[in-house]
Amino acid sequence: MQEKVICSKCLYHMPRPKIADLENNAVSQLFWGRVKLKYCTALFFYSKGSIYQNIIHNLKYHGKQYIGVEFGKLFGSELKSTPLSSVDLVVPVPLHQKKTQEKRF
Ligand SMILES: [Zn+2]
Repeated sequence: MQEKVICSKCLYHMPRPKIADLENNAVSQLFWGRVKLKYCTALFFYSKGSIYQNIIHNLKYHGKQYIGVEFGKLFGSELKSTPLSSVDLVVPVPLHQKKTQEKRF
């Protein structure tokens, strides 16, 4: 990944799921009892107020799609040696359901 797109400090601080355990990790657990999935993982967990928040905002709200391309390259290289090496699609998944529920009540 090019340092000018996402710096190594931000990458270092991004919380990552265990990519080696595709059947039982924080991402796959979100789908338990809801959707039957064989494998599931994520490149990282988003954290509001984090050092890397503005990278995500630049991608999401300011149309800087090259950031998504860089994330895709990184994720692709990590998935190469896993059963998800031929994945067709990567989608964003909201992880903080508790926070969403707290806002409702
Ligand atoms: Zn940075």
